[in-house]
Amino acid sequence: MQRVVVVGSGLAGTHAAMALRRQGYEGELVLVGAEEHQPYDRPPLSKAVLLGNQDDTSLTFSLDELRIELRPNVHATGLRSGVVETSVGDLAYDGLVLATGSEPVRLPGTGGRYLRTKTDALSLRASLREGAQVVVVGAGWIGAEVATAAAKHGCQVTVLELAATPVAHALPAEIASHFVPWYAAAGVELRTNCAVAEVGPDGVSLVDGSSLEADVVVVGVGVRPAAGWLEGSPIPVDRGVLVGADLATGVEGVYAVGDLVARWSPRYGERIRGEHWDDALRSPAVAAANLLGGAEEYDPVPYVWSEQFGRMIQFAGNLGPESKGKLVWRGDPATGEGWSAFWLDSRSCVAAVLAVDQPRDFVQGRRLAEGSVPLDVDKLADPAVMVKAT
Ligand code: FAD
Repeated sequence: MQRVVVVGSGLAGTHAAMALRRQGYEGELVLVGAEEHQPYDRPPLSKAVLLGNQDDTSLTFSLDELRIELRPNVHATGLRSGVVETSVGDLAYDGLVLATGSEPVRLPGTGGRYLRTKTDALSLRASLREGAQVVVVGAGWIGAEVATAAAKHGCQVTVLELAATPVAHALPAEIASHFVPWYAAAGVELRTNCAVAEVGPDGVSLVDGSSLEADVVVVGVGVRPAAGWLEGSPIPVDRGVLVGADLATGVEGVYAVGDLVARWSPRYGERIRGEHWDDALRSPAVAAANLLGGAEEYDPVPYVWSEQFGRMIQFAGNLGPESKGKLVWRGDPATGEGWSAFWLDSRSCVAAVLAVDQPRDFVQGRRLAEGSVPLDVDKLADPAVMVKAT
């Protein structure tokens, strides 16, 4: 291969380029990115950056050392055999990695801020002034982190959530209901079962006809794959670029990684849309290996973390709004101390684990989930006993 093009200079695209070099690819390597910035990390944007503890989240590596040619401010606009069409002309490739990530779902109306980029984060931070009325639409991972930062800055924060509990897309209500008191304790008003109809420049209107004024409205209602530019191309897209566990698209020489993909998981027998940092970090090495002739599989237990209201939340597994399997609690959420919850399958293996300020439980639970090892349920339920396989 003489030229590999990677489209998307986020975490996944950048790591794909790095992995190609580290795995011995010697040809031309072009990294195309729509943003003006050098590659950077997104998770700190809604945490340390919004809180004012960090400005720069750039990835620490050398483009020059790895001979990666970054082309910033370049949008891929289409794809045909052997050619990426871009805002500055055609770019021929022999190998291609698609990594255009995801973009926020937008609500109707002309107002509202969305938090995806470094530019978004720095501009939002400047608006979080003491006493400002801030409405956050969505109590998902991002909404909760924005509410945390806004409350810390002394803003009057209201969070509007369509579902009955926070993080309803990822966790069953029996778990997520324990997140509700964190909002009030931080001085944040949480309104659940609340449907926003439109976001205007001065606030939001609700489906019930009422409205809420705000100085700042932040919308965090999920993301969708940034795959619009692939319309009309041979790449299969259905809620993400469809790839196998080998991360191949089915079009020769074209692989896809990170938030962009809906990958087939042999482990779960279904397609997984990751949308999490861990996938963007780990999947590129597999795609690079396979593009260079390997035969590797990427099929981990999905992992996400969130830092909200002074707590570290870690989750590994694939649940959605349904509780799957037997739920075992370790610790009592009502005490305000750390706690964890394990879902066990019919063989008493860990199907999923959620930990709130319990990193040891989490590390063990995630490892056991990856390995499908049976557990002793009685011992697991005792928080004084370390989590381990029977
Ligand atoms: P992206 O990071 O979206 O990068 C894709 C890049 O491609 C972007 O730079 C985009 O501009 C570019 N691009 C898009 N279209 C085109 C095009 N047509 N042409 C050229 N370039 C294009 N995950 C966690 O697990 N835990 C967390 O705590 C967490 N916190 C987060 C906080 C925030 C504020 C955000 C936004 C995300 C967070 N995530 C978190 C999610 C995590 O950051 C993403 O899963 C990860 O960034 C995905 O990386 P990616 O490279 O696949 O996509």
